[in-house]
Amino acid sequence: MEQPQVIVGASLAGAKAAAALRAEGYEGPLELIGAETELPYERPPLSKGFLQGKTPRGEFDVYPAEWYAEHGVTLRLGAAVTAIDPDAHTVTLDDGSRRGFAKLLLATGASPRPLPVPGGDRPDVLTLRGVGDSTRLRERLTPGARIVVVGAGWIGLEVAAAARAAEAEVTVLEAAELPLLRVLGREVARVFADLHRAHGVDLRFGVKVAAVEDGGVRLGDGTLVPADTVVVGVGIAPNTGLAEAAGLVVDNGVRTDEHLRTSHPDVFAAGDVANAFHPFYGRPIRVEHWANALNQPATAARSMLGQDAVYDRVPYFFTDQYDLGMEYTGYAEPGGYDRVVFRGDVAAREFVAFWLAEGRVLAGMNVNVWDVVDPIRALILGGRPVDEARLTDPDVPLEDLTG
Ligand SMILES: Cc1cc2nc3c(=O)[nH]c(=O)nc-3n(C[C@H](O)[C@H](O)[C@H](O)COP(=O)(O)OP(=O)(O)OC[C@H]3O[C@@H](n4cnc5c(N)ncnc54)[C@H](O)[C@@H]3O)c2cc1C
Repeated sequence: MEQPQVIVGASLAGAKAAAALRAEGYEGPLELIGAETELPYERPPLSKGFLQGKTPRGEFDVYPAEWYAEHGVTLRLGAAVTAIDPDAHTVTLDDGSRRGFAKLLLATGASPRPLPVPGGDRPDVLTLRGVGDSTRLRERLTPGARIVVVGAGWIGLEVAAAARAAEAEVTVLEAAELPLLRVLGREVARVFADLHRAHGVDLRFGVKVAAVEDGGVRLGDGTLVPADTVVVGVGIAPNTGLAEAAGLVVDNGVRTDEHLRTSHPDVFAAGDVANAFHPFYGRPIRVEHWANALNQPATAARSMLGQDAVYDRVPYFFTDQYDLGMEYTGYAEPGGYDRVVFRGDVAAREFVAFWLAEGRVLAGMNVNVWDVVDPIRALILGGRPVDEARLTDPDVPLEDLTG
């Protein structure tokens, strides 16, 4: 009997991989196994429209329920894989059953990191990853509720914006001196600090959270920040347990080559869990963003079918907070760039920021400016020094600089 292609993790990457296998003409058995009981869904609305009660749950399924049967995808929901045996080509489910596979894709994503302080595991300390988390949090975002967000990363800031939209009182506690400092650097991080202050968020930087107690959050200096609800957004950890136990190479995620093949030739990985070798950067990169989970599966599927496919897209992500919409393209690490320059009006929050190294564009972030991702990507891939005066002049079309 023909063994199925098996995908572990029924979220964006998993569902897209199933679709890509069919799109590539694979007609054999195909199983998508997921621990959640929900149909595969997209997560960005969980901290934005859904959290604010604007986007109904039905609007962000990856595919409608009938799509799976129509495409011959056996969808096993509420089923966690507890072990994989790459050499024996089997997976074990939490009901004890074992199933064979021809090729296996790990799309197990990531989980929120807990707050490592006393009280950090109290039931009233919330994290945000799944639709249940968002539903629970939404019920607490009411006028006057005291919401304390620990961590000024993307999730923390989006929660702060949603809470302010619900007229809650919001305090954000952050160990660093600015929000998003590690991702954006000082120059652009300030834009987000100003944005949240302008919307009435009490931002406290350089603070250490010592404990979560009955009345709120205790800081290292003894201050108690009163809270009705504490939301923790201190990063995520890739779900690598299965891969590790199976002896696959794991290092900040499941390591793969540029074909998204792990250290076992019949096991692949995609999405938040994959630390994939990126040919443009010449080293592995793990990207925790929607576009990566959307696009990597096509490469993984082709590789699973024995085709020569390489994943080399430049990272991309987006956020929406209040009236600020932003897209970020590229990859600029702390210490990896020497200048940040702006094109447009930073004070009005309508601009493009560029991270440069020796005059070359490493990354670009467009804030309330649209339809510029393609030229930004072309500038990055071009890899040549650009004329900074023209780059920062909004009257010079970006396309003119990419030639
Ligand atoms: C609240 C929120 C807001 C976000 N907003 C943005 C945004 O604005 N822009 C952006 O670019 N990105 C955003 N992201 C990130 C984006 O949603 C993720 O990059 C994307 O969901 C990753 O998809 P994935 O399929 O790789 O993993 P996941 O979405 O984490 O899915 C993994 C799935 O695997 C399942 N699983 C894990 N282990 C097992 C197992 N052993 N057996 C069976 N199933 C298993 C999990 O239950 C889960 O359903 C956001 C994420 C969150 C949580």
